[in-house]
Amino acid sequence: MTETFTGSFTQQEPIPEEAIEAAMAVLRHGRLHRYNVAPGELGETALLEQEFAAQMGAKYCLAVSSGGYALATALRAVGVQPGDLVLTNAFTLAPVPGAIASVGARPIFVGVTESLTIDLDDLEAKLDQARVLMLSHMRGHLCDMDRLMQMCDAAGVIVIEDCAHTMGAAWRGQLSGRQGAIGCYSCQTYKHVNSGEGGLLITDDEELAAKATMLSGSYMLYERHLAAPGPEVFERIKYTTPNVSGRMDNLRAAILRPQLRDLDRQVRRWNERYDEIAAGLRGTPGLTIVERPEEETYVGSSIQFLLLDWSPERIAEVIRRCAVRGVELKWFGGAEPTGFTSRYDSWRYADSAPMPASDRILAGIMDMRVPLTFSLEDCCLIARIIRSEVGAVYQS
Ligand SMILES: *Cc1c(COP(=O)(O)O)cnc(C)c1O
Repeated sequence: MTETFTGSFTQQEPIPEEAIEAAMAVLRHGRLHRYNVAPGELGETALLEQEFAAQMGAKYCLAVSSGGYALATALRAVGVQPGDLVLTNAFTLAPVPGAIASVGARPIFVGVTESLTIDLDDLEAKLDQARVLMLSHMRGHLCDMDRLMQMCDAAGVIVIEDCAHTMGAAWRGQLSGRQGAIGCYSCQTYKHVNSGEGGLLITDDEELAAKATMLSGSYMLYERHLAAPGPEVFERIKYTTPNVSGRMDNLRAAILRPQLRDLDRQVRRWNERYDEIAAGLRGTPGLTIVERPEEETYVGSSIQFLLLDWSPERIAEVIRRCAVRGVELKWFGGAEPTGFTSRYDSWRYADSAPMPASDRILAGIMDMRVPLTFSLEDCCLIARIIRSEVGAVYQS
C-alpha cells in the first residue's frame, strides 16, 4: 500500500481566543493607530514593545509594519547610505537583499556551508569590504555566533540580525537577536507569531533605538513609547532623522501579545514535530540531515535536508514523487525562482561573483515547512514518504 499525506503545508493554527478577544476590544473602541490613545491608556503597540523587550532582555523595542521594514530601518539607523556595500548571506530570502536595495546600498554575498549557515571563512575574507553585516539566520540555522561576533567586533563591522526564523532560538543560551547591534523579527503569518504582517526590532543602543523610532513614523509622539529611550536622546536626532512611515497598529499588537506569551510552548511543539521528521529521515541513503550544533537552541518551524551532488533531474524527480504523495518540498537549487525560494544569482538587481562551493550546496537544499497543525503521526508519515521516494530515486 502506498501511503499519502492529505494535510496542508500552509495551514496555520487559529489565532488564540485571548488574542481574538483583545482584537475585538480594539475594534470596538476604534483606536487602531498606535498614537490614538485615550487619556491614561498606554496602547496595545506600546505594551507589545515593552513586553517583547522584557522577554528578550533588550533595553529597547520598536514594533513596525513588517520584518523587511525592520531590516531596512536597521540599515538606515546604523547610517547605511546609497552606494554603500553591505555584507549578507547568499542563502537567504528575497526581503533581505531587498532591504539592502531599498536604501540604495549593494549587497556583497557571503557563502553558505553544509550546516546551512554563513561561511565564516568567506566572511573573514570579505570583512574589510563593508562596515555592516546583515546576518540572516536563514531557516533558523545559527552559525558559531561567538566566532562571528569576535570577527566582526575586531573588524569594526556592525551586525544586524535577521531573526525571521529564530524568534525563540538561542546560541549558548543567549537569545537570537541579542548578539548583534540590532535584532529584527517578522510577525508575518509564516513565522513564529502571526499577525498577518508585522515586525519587531530590538537593540540596547539608545541612539539606534531613537533613530529607528523616528524613522518608523513617530512624529514627535515618541514619549508615548514604553520601550524607547528618554526624550533627551530624541532631542539629539529628531531634526536629522526622516519619517519613513511604517508603524505597527494596535490591532496587530493586540493579536501578538498573547502569542508572544505562549512562544516557549509553541517552540517545544515545533521541535517535537521537527525531531520526529529528522529521526525518520536520518540514515536515508543519499540524504544528508543538517545536524544541529550543541550550542544551538533551535525552533523547528521548518526542516532542511541536502541531496548533495544529485543531478537536477533526479532532485526534480524526488520532488515530483513526493508531491504525488502529498508532501510539498521546496528546492533552492531550481533554475528559476518559485514561490518563496530564490537564489543570490536570481536577484539580478545586485551584482554577484560566482560562488561554486555555495552553488553546490544551494543546488542540494531541500526545504519543508512544519506547521503546528501537523500531528506527530503526520510528521512520521511525511518522513516515511520522503525516505521511500528519495530511496527509490537514489537506487534507480
Ligand atoms: C519573512 C522573512 C523576512 C521578512 O519578513 P516580512 O515580515 O515578510 O517582511 C526576512 N528574512 C527572512 C529570512 C524571512 O523569512
